[in-house]
Amino acid sequence: MDPFVYDGLPGRVVFGAGAARNGLAAQLAELGAERVLLCVTERGLAQAQPLLEPLGDKVVGTFTDVRMHVPVESAQAARQLAADCGAQAVLAIGGGSATGTAKAIALTSGLPIVAVPTTYAGSEVTAVWGLTQGERKTTGKDLRVLPKVVVYDPELTLDLPPDLSASSGLNALAHAVEAFWGPGRNPITALVAEEAIRALSRGLPAVVAAPHDVQARTDALYGAYVAGASFAVAGSSLHHKICHVLGGAFNLPHAQTHAVVLPHVLALVAPALPDVEARIARALDAEPGGAVAALTSLAVRLGAPTGLREIGMRFEDLDQVSDLVQEKLPADGPVPLNREAVGALLTATWTGPPRATPPRPQS
Ligand code: NAD
Repeated sequence: MDPFVYDGLPGRVVFGAGAARNGLAAQLAELGAERVLLCVTERGLAQAQPLLEPLGDKVVGTFTDVRMHVPVESAQAARQLAADCGAQAVLAIGGGSATGTAKAIALTSGLPIVAVPTTYAGSEVTAVWGLTQGERKTTGKDLRVLPKVVVYDPELTLDLPPDLSASSGLNALAHAVEAFWGPGRNPITALVAEEAIRALSRGLPAVVAAPHDVQARTDALYGAYVAGASFAVAGSSLHHKICHVLGGAFNLPHAQTHAVVLPHVLALVAPALPDVEARIARALDAEPGGAVAALTSLAVRLGAPTGLREIGMRFEDLDQVSDLVQEKLPADGPVPLNREAVGALLTATWTGPPRATPPRPQS
């Protein structure tokens, strides 16, 4: 085994059906938070209401201008509200956008976050923040934005529509896959990532088939949690850099972009990292050499989009994407890529799923 460094991240995770309904007040009390700012979308307010009743009058402000990729204007308004109402903690109930808004507040104020995720985005277990100014998305890492407590309650995901569940789940799968070659990877992140892929590939088809099945939702949410946890330590690489450009500069939908790009990046990386490919294949219940085909077939089975053209990307903008991706390519990426290779990758990703690759013969 190669020598490694493992930077574990702090934070409490409370997991289980009913955990948010029954446990939020106690978690906030342990933090000593008497004045709480809630970050939630307008849509999420109704879902949040029953969770807030046990908190009595502790919620002193509610910020609902939650937007994807956190535009700086939205961050500034949220920070102002937190200051105006004297918040001692931020409670984020919702997907990655609600968590991201809470992170923007914590980044400048140091306020603790209690996160209650309702999608599979995974942001709640990472110390990564993101802000968008105009067309440019900036991200950074800061322990102040890592939620102090995450309450995972599968009941809150029962109403996540099947199409969003599929793409959000594939976003989670991307965290686990990229954790195998991220710059901070180590044997523990690989172990956790493999478990995440197994749980997601079991849970997501069951969720799409029966969205109100609590057991299926539990598997998928657990998978999303451990995928996020592996990625939080391993860090982002080629796949996330590409999605970051597409989301920030072209405003493509976050989860769907990940769903489309992931099989292509895996197809590119797999031949260079056969041992990683075999572990991903095993977690997807496939033979060595079959990871890309298994991932593609999972995405198709889930009804997720498979080409950038399906989610609003214009072919004529691909050259610009190539330039931006080229600027952001990680120095320690899994495979060396020149501009031509990036262009070929993007063209293939725009068109549709990767062509099937035959499984590698077993020795
Ligand atoms: P989102 O939070 O914008 O939610 C997507 C949609 O689903 C919204 O319309 C929301 O109202 C709806 N929704 C959420 N939960 C629901 C539920 N239970 N039932 C019905 N509808 C529901 O999207 P997302 O994909 O969760 O998060 C994307 C954002 O998170 C992006 O800005 C992305 O950059 C960020 N992100 C950050 C990290 C990180 O580590 N910093 C990781 C992943 C994602």
